[in-house]
Amino acid sequence: AAQIWYENDGDLSVLEGKKVAIIGYGSQGHAHALNLRDSGVDVVVGLRPTSKSVEFAKEQGLEVKSVPEAAAEADIIMILAPDQYQAKIFKNDIEPNWKPGTALAFAHGFNIHYGYIKPSEDHPIFMVAPKGPGHIVRREYAAGRGVPVVVAVEQDPRGDAWQITLAYAKALGALRAGAIKTTFKEETETDLFGEQNVLMGGINHLCDMGFDVLTEAGYQPEIAYFEVFHELKMLVDLANEGGLNKARWSCSDTAQYGDYTCTVINEETKKRMEYQLKRIQDGSFAKEFMDDQAAGAPKFKALQEKFSHPHLETVGPKLRAMFSWNNQGVKDADEAQSF
Ligand code: NDP
Ligand code: MG
Ligand code: MG
Repeated sequence: AAQIWYENDGDLSVLEGKKVAIIGYGSQGHAHALNLRDSGVDVVVGLRPTSKSVEFAKEQGLEVKSVPEAAAEADIIMILAPDQYQAKIFKNDIEPNWKPGTALAFAHGFNIHYGYIKPSEDHPIFMVAPKGPGHIVRREYAAGRGVPVVVAVEQDPRGDAWQITLAYAKALGALRAGAIKTTFKEETETDLFGEQNVLMGGINHLCDMGFDVLTEAGYQPEIAYFEVFHELKMLVDLANEGGLNKARWSCSDTAQYGDYTCTVINEETKKRMEYQLKRIQDGSFAKEFMDDQAAGAPKFKALQEKFSHPHLETVGPKLRAMFSWNNQGVKDADEAQSF
């Protein structure tokens, strides 16, 4: 069974007298910086001086420095810039400036696992990867709860890397929920697999395609939106509470029978998933993404443009604005900035 750590397994005193640099102040960055600070940790935020986030971080009472300055004084550096820029940040701003033995931390294993960042052996390397968006990591902490994390250690030159990892996870509020032990390899490959095949690549296309099929068959788009998209959240909420069986239990027998006999997801779909997994495992997905990014992201930008008008959204804004069930998403000032 997986090893899971909770609140009593982390010791915040491990971070006493240590400076933690959080690089980036986006989705994860603001949550890590604020949660650690509120847990009594000495935090400095590292940002480009031109970043619009400098003011947001300062307004929250955080100390902000350039990335080289923050890296130079840190005992622990958590990199929370987008994955495709991390290697450059490490090479240009961190590696030339950090102290011997400074620990390097990540919220996703991508750059270490695929070898884009290769720190020398005297630096501990660990991961605290929240299994939720940064704004929920912050919101849950403020409510006295936490978002679960997966944790891993890649390099442990002094033998203290796990203590630091669990202390960091505790300061983030994550041990209130639990930290599951993993490896950089497992976290990276499963994270990519999940977002590509199920959470995003799977669901997003499934919803939009369902909408197309109904509207092309002449049904009203407003009705189609409700049937293939709006209700998804409620089923996911039930499934989160009590698993797929609870979501099924709450639906009609008619719906259940249709679910069990559906032929859309089939052995062919499974073969496609296995193919996607292979491209993750052999590094070809990572290489394709990073090569495109290095060339200025022409392919990525074209895809963003191509998919920027989901057919669902022809009626989405109107319907979401009409009904009080929508809470309009994230509203807090410190949350809104990165959207
Ligand atoms: P964001 O896109 O939200 O982070 C953007 C931040 O990075 C901004 O503050 C930006 O500053 C800064 N940044 C960009 N380039 C540089 C640079 N060259 N030097 C310094 N700062 C820079 O990232 P996420 O929070 O989404 O992702 C961060 C990490 O967390 C990734 O490894 C990701 O995989 C992981 N993760 C993310 C999750 C999420 O909820 N989004 C969930 C779990 C893990 P500027 O204003 O200058 O552009
Ligand atoms: Mg993920
Ligand atoms: Mg991911």
